[in-house]
Amino acid sequence: MDELFTDTDRDIRRRAAEFTDKHLIPLEEPTEERGGHWSWADTQHVRDAAVDYGLSAINIKKEYGGQEFTVLQQMLVHEEIGRATNGLFALLPFPHVPLQHGTEEQIDRYLRPMCAGKIRSAFLVTEEGAGSDPRQVKTKAMRKGNGFVVTGEKWFATSADVSQVQIVHAHVDDDPDQPTLFLIPTAREGVSIKELPTFTHNYVFGHPMMAFDEVEVGADEILGGVGQGYELTKDWFVEARLEICAHCIGQSRRAALVANAYAGEREQFGQKIQDFQAIRFMIADMAVAIYAMQSMVYRLAADIDRGADRKTAHAQASAAKLFCSEQAGKVVDSAVQVLGGRGYMRKNPVERLYRDVRVERIWEGTSEVQRDVIGRMVAKRGLGRYSLWD
Ligand SMILES: Cc1cc2nc3c(=O)[nH]c(=O)nc-3n(C[C@H](O)[C@H](O)[C@H](O)COP(=O)(O)OP(=O)(O)OC[C@H]3O[C@@H](n4cnc5c(N)ncnc54)[C@H](O)[C@@H]3O)c2cc1C
Repeated sequence: MDELFTDTDRDIRRRAAEFTDKHLIPLEEPTEERGGHWSWADTQHVRDAAVDYGLSAINIKKEYGGQEFTVLQQMLVHEEIGRATNGLFALLPFPHVPLQHGTEEQIDRYLRPMCAGKIRSAFLVTEEGAGSDPRQVKTKAMRKGNGFVVTGEKWFATSADVSQVQIVHAHVDDDPDQPTLFLIPTAREGVSIKELPTFTHNYVFGHPMMAFDEVEVGADEILGGVGQGYELTKDWFVEARLEICAHCIGQSRRAALVANAYAGEREQFGQKIQDFQAIRFMIADMAVAIYAMQSMVYRLAADIDRGADRKTAHAQASAAKLFCSEQAGKVVDSAVQVLGGRGYMRKNPVERLYRDVRVERIWEGTSEVQRDVIGRMVAKRGLGRYSLWD
């Protein structure tokens, strides 16, 4: 598979691996001990280091201050940073890609400082009544003078607690046919954190519930245009799903390496446990899963770089997200099993991976929703988007 990669690709992967080992892995246990939830200021040194490593804003065009990596290169970075537990990958500046559709003023105000690691955004779609079905969104933007008044509540808003600007999906005039993204500064009157729940994983930042209480927003704070919410969110979905795939590969590699090393050392009944076929088979299945995930994700990324049709890329990203999140769950579960009781200790990376990996089947579209999308597409158009020959 090596010829897939250029020397630049390999160099980027090496840098991302080094960055992960030097700057993210050492933060794992401190993050675990404090239950995640770092502050923005306390984590600035990691963002600065990412900028120094040339690993900030890898998805953003150079003209806006990003690295403009190919999608394949982005996958290599996400795979490496995905090896770190506790969502530490989120420390790297990785602006939401729809921001590139902003006006010049929005780009100067938000995107450029994000590329430099100085500020960040959160992307808020989900609500109490709107999860898999975003048409149920109740956050509304009612017209007032030349602007809007936004009212509503958003759930599970990843990193919104440390974000200086919130990208809020709201319905203009309370009309689900006018889904629109608003760029709302967190400091704006009426914006507040309603609750900061704890979750299965100890993520580096929070996933708060955010309240918007009659927040005055200017027409110049719309991202894209009125009614373009889904179109812009689709761009984000492809990117976020691929990012999840690459994290799943990184998580699986880490778990398999730990399990394999342990199996080669641990002795029971007078022999190494790797000499038990039951253990060897688990590790064999991990290796095969990693091989399959990498083959799928690198191919899809390379296809997108070669200009794959957008709808096909969207459909295949769903398939890849479904496959990788489910495979990673199995790999990490087996790694815990290989380590026995030690695999259940919080000090052990496989235990943290076990908790981290569960959400991959839930966020950015649950496994059931991905299967539904794929199944409907195959029923309507046949296997063409997934099989080379049909
Ligand atoms: C840690 C975390 C971070 C998150 N970060 C963000 C964020 O930053 N921004 C954001 O907007 N959202 C975020 N989310 C929300 C996430 O995207 C949603 O949780 C997810 O889309 C599922 O929505 P729901 O939880 O409301 O579940 P529901 O949609 O209520 O689903 C409940 C169950 O019903 C199933 N189901 C639903 N529809 C169908 C269907 N058509 N066919 C078959 N089964 C179906 C689901 O698969 C699931 O099993 C985050 C969630 C978590 C847990």
